[in-house]
Amino acid sequence: MNDGRRLAYLEALGVDVYVRRSVPPAVAADEPPADPVEIPAAANGGPPALESTLDWDALRAAVAGCTRCVLSETRTQTVFGVGNPKARWMFIGEAPGAEEDKRGEPFVGRAGQLLTAMLKAIGFRREDVYIANVLKCRPPGNRDPRPDEAAHCRGYLERQIELVSPALVIAVGRIAAQNLLATDVPLARLRGQVHALGLRAWPLVVTYHPAYLLRSPAEKRKAWQDLLFARQVSERIERGERVLP
Ligand code: SF4
Repeated sequence: MNDGRRLAYLEALGVDVYVRRSVPPAVAADEPPADPVEIPAAANGGPPALESTLDWDALRAAVAGCTRCVLSETRTQTVFGVGNPKARWMFIGEAPGAEEDKRGEPFVGRAGQLLTAMLKAIGFRREDVYIANVLKCRPPGNRDPRPDEAAHCRGYLERQIELVSPALVIAVGRIAAQNLLATDVPLARLRGQVHALGLRAWPLVVTYHPAYLLRSPAEKRKAWQDLLFARQVSERIERGERVLP
């Protein structure tokens, strides 16, 4: 898809496109603040989680039967992840919502449709990337994940990242970004730069959550800038250039 068609596509989505290709996204208003979610010891160099050696099938089965946290009592089903198991781009969101809980797939509600449309605009099909969440079970009432829930679930996500081995991780939304990077820095200040995720230093960039974009359509332009930045970083990685400081 050429840039003209991408822009036309985004305009049709209601994205007011204004693109400065060579300049990283500007610092801007952030999503509403909340307490950062702490990460577990394994991500900080502690002992590896039990699931760190599982293959896809065993990992999927472990998640499906997981009762490590209270969310197992209220979920309809676990929401493991979806997409190309060898994707170059891996998107990581916060947690399943009502629609995801019902269908067992991440990012399938209205927010998911927006993410899919934005992926298409940047030249990816949904099935080209891998999509997962920090939590595999829906928090009741879509409340924020609690630190202990994120900690219990972290090993599953870490193993998914290892198995996909993506060139680039895209943290979708403030909760995912702050959780993955173990920081309380506002999302607006995390945008437009490449971060190192975990001990393996996976390159990671951040963007807004599509659910937030649906509530604040004026921010869609910034999410588009984030995707362009991600593409730029990805191209540098493909050329073998160093992208981390
Ligand atoms: S959210 Fe994660 S840790 Fe909690 S029950 Fe679901 S799969 Fe297990």
